[in-house]
Amino acid sequence: MHELSMADGILKAVLSNAEENDATEVIEVTVEMGRMALLNPEQVKFMLGVLSEDTIAKDAKFIIEDIPIEIECQECSYSGKVEDEDLDHYTPVVVCPKCDTNRIAITNGKDCIVKNIIIEKPDDE
Ligand SMILES: [Zn+2]
Repeated sequence: MHELSMADGILKAVLSNAEENDATEVIEVTVEMGRMALLNPEQVKFMLGVLSEDTIAKDAKFIIEDIPIEIECQECSYSGKVEDEDLDHYTPVVVCPKCDTNRIAITNGKDCIVKNIIIEKPDDE
C-alpha cells in the first residue's frame, strides 16, 4: 500500500532527526505532500498515528500541507499551476491549461517531504 510505505518513510525520517537532536518527544511534524504524489492525506495521517504508537512521536501532531501541481509546457512555454480537480487518482494525466498538450514537465507537486519537525529536548523544561 502506497500510503503505508510513505507514512513509514516519513516516520523514520522524523525519528532519526529527533534522535540526532536528543529529543525526548516529537511535538509537531509538517509534511509537504504534492498532489502528483497521489496520496490520500487522511490515510497517511491515520497510518502515522498507528505507526508512531510506540515511539517518541506518539503524541505528535502531524500537519499535511497540500502542494499544488506546477508545470512547464514544452509547446507554449506556459509555466505555473494546473487545475487538478478532475485529476484521476489512479491514472493522472496532466495537460497544459493553455494549449492542452501533455508535452509538459512537472516542476512541483510530485514529492512528499518532511518540511519541519518540532521536538522537545530534556533541557527545555
Ligand atoms: Zn501549453
